[in-house]
Amino acid sequence: MAKSKTKAIELIALQCTECKRRNYTTKKNKRNTQGKLEFNKYCKFDRKHTLHRETKIK
Ligand SMILES: [Zn+2]
Repeated sequence: MAKSKTKAIELIALQCTECKRRNYTTKKNKRNTQGKLEFNKYCKFDRKHTLHRETKIK
């Protein structure tokens, strides 16, 4: 039996494109998702919805 350790799930941070703060963390399934994730989310620093883009968590 082959080992089936999957590394498809990756933890990422969502960074506000306006103030560059990392407001959210989420999980990404690399198998289903191609390219960078982008979400329109509320930024409490800007006090409005802004575009949040995927960045790496170190
Ligand atoms: Zn912001």
